Amino acid sequence: MSDRSIRRLSDATVNQIAAGEVITRPSRVVEELLDNAIDAAASRITIEVESDGTDRITVSDTGHGIARKDVIRALERHTTSKIQPENTTLTESVQTLGFRGEALAAIADCATVTVETNTGEPRGTKITTGPDDEPVRRDVGHAQGTTVTASNLFANRPARNASLAKPETEFRRITEVVSAYALLYPQIRFVLRHNGTETLSTTGTGITASVLGVYGRKAAQHTRSIDHRQAVSIDHGGTHAPRTTETQTVRISGFLLAPTIVRRSNTHTTVAINGRPVRQSAIRDAVVSGYGSRLGSKEYPIAAISVTVPHSLVDPNIHPAKQRVGLVGEDEIAAAVSKAIETALTSGDERIAAQTPTDLTTELADTTPDSRFDRLTVIGTFRELYILCEAADELLVIDQHAAHERVNYERLQAAFATEPIRSEPIDPPQTVSLSATAQAAMEEFADELTACGYEYELFGGTVVRVTAVPAPFGRPANPGSLQDVLTALQQGIERPPREQFLASLACHPSLKAGDSLSVDDAQLLLDRLAECESPYRCPHGRPVMTTLSERSIAQQLGRNVSRFR
Ligand code: ADP
Ligand code: MG
Repeated sequence: MSDRSIRRLSDATVNQIAAGEVITRPSRVVEELLDNAIDAAASRITIEVESDGTDRITVSDTGHGIARKDVIRALERHTTSKIQPENTTLTESVQTLGFRGEALAAIADCATVTVETNTGEPRGTKITTGPDDEPVRRDVGHAQGTTVTASNLFANRPARNASLAKPETEFRRITEVVSAYALLYPQIRFVLRHNGTETLSTTGTGITASVLGVYGRKAAQHTRSIDHRQAVSIDHGGTHAPRTTETQTVRISGFLLAPTIVRRSNTHTTVAINGRPVRQSAIRDAVVSGYGSRLGSKEYPIAAISVTVPHSLVDPNIHPAKQRVGLVGEDEIAAAVSKAIETALTSGDERIAAQTPTDLTTELADTTPDSRFDRLTVIGTFRELYILCEAADELLVIDQHAAHERVNYERLQAAFATEPIRSEPIDPPQTVSLSATAQAAMEEFADELTACGYEYELFGGTVVRVTAVPAPFGRPANPGSLQDVLTALQQGIERPPREQFLASLACHPSLKAGDSLSVDDAQLLLDRLAECESPYRCPHGRPVMTTLSERSIAQQLGRNVSRFR
């Protein structure tokens, strides 16, 4: 913004302000001071909190600072540098987080406030004021930027003080606020200190680094960034204005965590609209619903999603504490958010699986059909479960689900043949104790284990430190599975975890009991089964078919087979 001088809003504008209590608890002070630091284009923001925040909250930033002549005015009610006087409506083209010019005044109403600031002059300015004190201004040494301290919060507001939660809860709320801002503004360096100890920090070097600072290494490894633009058609007007539909571009950016790491509450799903952190339930719910069935009941994702829309669609002035905004086309925008999240979560693996045909007509690639199937004639189905076939002097009973599973499984195997097995590091590494025989086989099968996606360090004895596990389709295997895989390798049954996942994937789109098949469909299924490499076993190892010889039928019926022939 070119002109940063602070002016009083016109009475007309003041009358448009959404009224309500602005500072209800310490975390609200933090929110307002962070908004100001971000509006000042700070690259580094430090938040220091004493006890629950009522003793002291200090936020310092490296932003553009406040001019000496303006500092006292900044603390008055309805004074702001963020709305140009010629603007008639309050919300017209507001692109800053603050715009009402009341936050500093509201804080000074219930706390002692010190502002130290410098716009890049040799000396900075310091102002101290409080509920009962006139502001005092003097010079101070301060680097470019602003430090605001609020102390003795609510000392003059016993009712608000009494309604605060336990100190841990209040500090947790502050942590949630700082986390949300740090995740939504990954280019800014944030440091949070509690009673002198650093409890959270980010480097300002991007999304993954911010996730690392807020949620730790494991979460950072599961981070997927998202940046998606979508045209959304939005219905305008209705009651008072003529109804029109217009197409607007919605940008959905930020990050999400793969649902291998989830939370029990929705406070880790952070949403911003045009850069403004909000508790907009429609958008937050849309993020959660984009995860779909990937989340169990009462599971919530870790994500920070910024939705950017044309300013004409947003009314930032509907909530006194700016916790929600008015959003034209909210339903359509929410639907776009869900879709974007769902797409971002669909891994390459899942896309391949989804593209693999599961129908009966598509032939399996590169195979020569098993000629033994040529002799089969479908004669019917039984109980919508079995296909009955005549094969020379035998009656064949084929399990239609098992047969279809085998077909789909071999298709998936072919589709994934060129895909490397994914391996995912585990942090911290996990020690696994193996049986003596499994331990003895470690060296022999070292190559196979690596090919499966395991990484580990030998400790001596039967203890192994597992540092990475196979993660087919983004689902990391349990480190303890190393023991099972070794046992299987020793028994010569090579069934790496990926094959198990393929088998479970093959199962889902396959014919179920009660799916009735026409004789033609049954014949098609047999044609596909004939193209399989191992047509006689389902992917889980159960037989696909059983036979009943004419002889045994004849015997049951007391008929002499040879005489009948
Ligand atoms: P608003 O943010 O709505 O304008 P505030 O009461 O929060 O109202 O702040 C009043 C004014 O003080 C702002 O418009 C801005 O010019 C100035 N200001 C407050 N905090 C900062 C800061 N950290 N850095 C630079 N300027 C600030
Ligand atoms: Mg402000």
